[in-house]
Amino acid sequence: MSKVINPADLCPCGSQQAYQQCCLPLHTDQSVAQTPEQLMRSRYCAFVAAKFDYLLATHHPDYRQGLTVEQLAQGNTHWLGLQVVNAKQIGTTGEVTFKAWYIAGKQIDAIHERSAFVLQQGRWFYTEGEQMHTRLPARNEPCICHSGKKFKQCCAKLAH
Ligand SMILES: [Zn+2]
Ligand SMILES: [Zn+2]
Repeated sequence: MSKVINPADLCPCGSQQAYQQCCLPLHTDQSVAQTPEQLMRSRYCAFVAAKFDYLLATHHPDYRQGLTVEQLAQGNTHWLGLQVVNAKQIGTTGEVTFKAWYIAGKQIDAIHERSAFVLQQGRWFYTEGEQMHTRLPARNEPCICHSGKKFKQCCAKLAH
């Protein structure tokens, strides 16, 4: 499930900036990600916006394993929000740990992953990720979608 993002709306990556000042210039190739975290955010945002060409272009060719736009376009995922847990950069490599929350069917879950990135010819690429288990927020914890509401008063309602 994709959605059109209004350039003036808050960016889906959770940066609290407008899409046009955040991930949009990356998606339209007007600028390139300066850090592994920025690339990771823009890739999450590309899933939300169904920018599958961007996802392929930022996935290092040696690690794509035959991945196609058609494969990326499959699935019926409604993305709820992104939490970047940890991000670091050491020279030309980087690592970002994140939780990408989604709802599929009536089930809320997250891709909890430690992703690896490499800088080549001035561009950051995603190489591969290690999946980890996650747990849902407690009912009184802040919602995963950055609404500022409690989880129980926000996205938890979608799962009923
Ligand atoms: Zn963004
Ligand atoms: Zn929410």
